[in-house]
Amino acid sequence: MHNIFYVLINFSILVLIVFLFGRKTIVSMFKSRREKIYAALDKTEKVEAMQIPEIDAEKLDISVETDRSGLIRIENETEEKINAIRHATESECFEIRRDMISSAKEYASVALCNEIRTLLQIEPYRSEFRKKEPEMADMILKKIRLTPGDMAYLKYHDVLYVTLTSAFELDCEIVSKIRSAAESLLDTVSGKASFWVKVDPELVGGMKLRIGDTIYDCTITEELYQLKNMLNKQEAVGNETPDDIINGFLDSINRSHRGVHLYEYQLGRVMTVSDGICWMDGLADIMYCEVVEFECGERGMVLDIQHDRIGCVIYGSYEHIESGSRVRRVGRIASVPVGEKLLGRVVNPIGRALDGKGKIRSHDYRPIEFHAPSIPERSSVNRPLQTGIKAVDALIPIGRGQRELIIGDRQTGKTSIIIDTIINQKDKNVICIYVAIGQKDSSVADLRSKLEKYGAMEYTTIVCASASDSASLQYVAPFAATAMGEHFMYSGKDVLIIYDDLSKHAVAYRELSLLLHRPSGREAYPGDIFFLHSRLLERSAQLSDELGGGSMTALPVIETLAGDISSYIPTNVISITDGQIFLDSELFNEGQRPAVNVGLSVSRVGSAAQTKLMKQVSASLRMNLAQYRELLGFAQFGSDVDSQTQKTLDEGARMMAVLRQGKYAPLDDWKQALVIYAVSAGFANNIPINEIESFEALILDAFEKDYPSLVNELKKGTKMDDSLKSKLNSALAAVAGDK
Ligand code: ATP
Ligand code: MG
Repeated sequence: MHNIFYVLINFSILVLIVFLFGRKTIVSMFKSRREKIYAALDKTEKVEAMQIPEIDAEKLDISVETDRSGLIRIENETEEKINAIRHATESECFEIRRDMISSAKEYASVALCNEIRTLLQIEPYRSEFRKKEPEMADMILKKIRLTPGDMAYLKYHDVLYVTLTSAFELDCEIVSKIRSAAESLLDTVSGKASFWVKVDPELVGGMKLRIGDTIYDCTITEELYQLKNMLNKQEAVGNETPDDIINGFLDSINRSHRGVHLYEYQLGRVMTVSDGICWMDGLADIMYCEVVEFECGERGMVLDIQHDRIGCVIYGSYEHIESGSRVRRVGRIASVPVGEKLLGRVVNPIGRALDGKGKIRSHDYRPIEFHAPSIPERSSVNRPLQTGIKAVDALIPIGRGQRELIIGDRQTGKTSIIIDTIINQKDKNVICIYVAIGQKDSSVADLRSKLEKYGAMEYTTIVCASASDSASLQYVAPFAATAMGEHFMYSGKDVLIIYDDLSKHAVAYRELSLLLHRPSGREAYPGDIFFLHSRLLERSAQLSDELGGGSMTALPVIETLAGDISSYIPTNVISITDGQIFLDSELFNEGQRPAVNVGLSVSRVGSAAQTKLMKQVSASLRMNLAQYRELLGFAQFGSDVDSQTQKTLDEGARMMAVLRQGKYAPLDDWKQALVIYAVSAGFANNIPINEIESFEALILDAFEKDYPSLVNELKKGTKMDDSLKSKLNSALAAVAGDK
């Protein structure tokens, strides 16, 4: 027994001695062999020292062919577009072709990168990459650090995984240098490193080091990925040929700075995907609202961060995203293109064109979530935003920078009020943004054609997340549109933004929240639904003069059920906004259109922005109408009413009649004031109620033709003095007398 024990001890001492003395000899043996190989490789054909060597177009002949057929393939695929070219005007044709060429370019850039990849896998490039390995290692070592995410991970797990992957087996010296650097890095926070070394020929050349979720990447694969992105950013020109595309690509590759590059990014792994929601792990330092990119090229936005997993919504289709596939941080918060190029366009919430007029080529981007202006950054609302609708401008005036809710049951004319308001902004220097959330595509197309017909599309952008789009896109839509509006607001312009409608937005957010396993609250909405809408609407403001004095007026729309304005979402939005226009289905059915319920509607700040003239004219209107509706209730019970009551009823009925207005016929401010003055001053007392509309047209016609000086006075919008009043009275008496 003892003998065996001593034999074992002797044997292990022997092994230890052999290992200690033999290691150096073995390593130096291999090293000298490697050096010999290097020397041999040095003698091979010299190529310029670079990460991606100079690309010779001749060598890429196949790729040019591939791209050429790629272009043809795309042309065949989009037969619809070719037909469109046939029927389009020259400028439209150019646009459509540009659109086609940009998709051809996307295809060609991938093909070209694949081609370069195959090319680089042969000598002499391989030996060139190998020579660069020490330089790459130095670059990586200069950069490595522990991120806050790594620290948090260490707190839970004590150990951090460090993996060194290279295309070829690395020199021991390099490996040990990197290993000791990583270990000493972790020593500083008293954590341990679990160090792994891998060889992956797929990388083509170079090496990458992964510490936790952060990758320090010097590989050719990454270089090609960046190259593809760079090529994809190139703008397409409408008359490029396939050869132009390839030559342009080669030019920009050869012009780009070559040398060893280090890219730093974070990776994660898809755990599960379902219903447009993806759960991932990794991505240690991810931020809320950050964009992530999946292996298939699809993108998403992070909406949930937990200590062991991250939840994100996927913008597009999620069929190609698989569990276990990799996902990387793009390194920016979700943002959308903004600027003049969006005017006249229909886009989706991530800024992709939906109107077939080609890509949106805007260089400016804004994050979709942005803090609302603080109190010192705002100034009071004091300029009117005229809707052109008598019932609104006279009774519930809206000021620039105000948030006014439009609320009512379905089919009560909510969208019609909005279309009129947009049409009325023509030549008034207001940029309009209409956000369609959860609507039918056909209604959005209808709205667009209406706006085009009335020349309103040139200053309008439509952001559309229709009912067929995913809940995530519907959720993003109002935020993205607000970012587009903010761009103009902060550059001193006036913006009108319409959210049609926020009830559907709340439903989309509820769907997302339930899928993200958030606890549900009242009516199954998540607890932060109020914050969702308040942080959205607070971004609309009248900015102070120091910030350029721009403004953003918000008109959110809410759909109620059976006129119930006391349910959860309506009460939330009512309390956030500065007033509401309540559309009554009963009034609508009685034929009162727009069906504004004067009693329940209010504008808390807008009257400060009303013109003096309108204020004077409509002062008593609101009270009279309230009185009228009250009396009407009593009068329905008995037939006998005294003459005073009857008079009030008649006047009220006339006022209600004068507030009726057809669709797409917004009226100028002075016209509204004139008509309301005429009726309230009693000039329409002898006119039957059903003829009030023609009486209105008659007055307006007569004034425009015969009383231009009075019209000019009214256009000033100042308070009427006695002389103007008497002149108006005599003119109105003459016109009404003619009638
Ligand atoms: P939804 O709930 O479906 O969104 P909505 O409340 O937006 O409906 P609209 O689509 O604007 O309502 O209008 C409903 C109907 O009322 C439409 O057929 C429209 O033509 C009609 N309408 C609305 N306003 C007027 C008006 N001022 N004059 C005549 N018809 C009108
Ligand atoms: Mg509508």
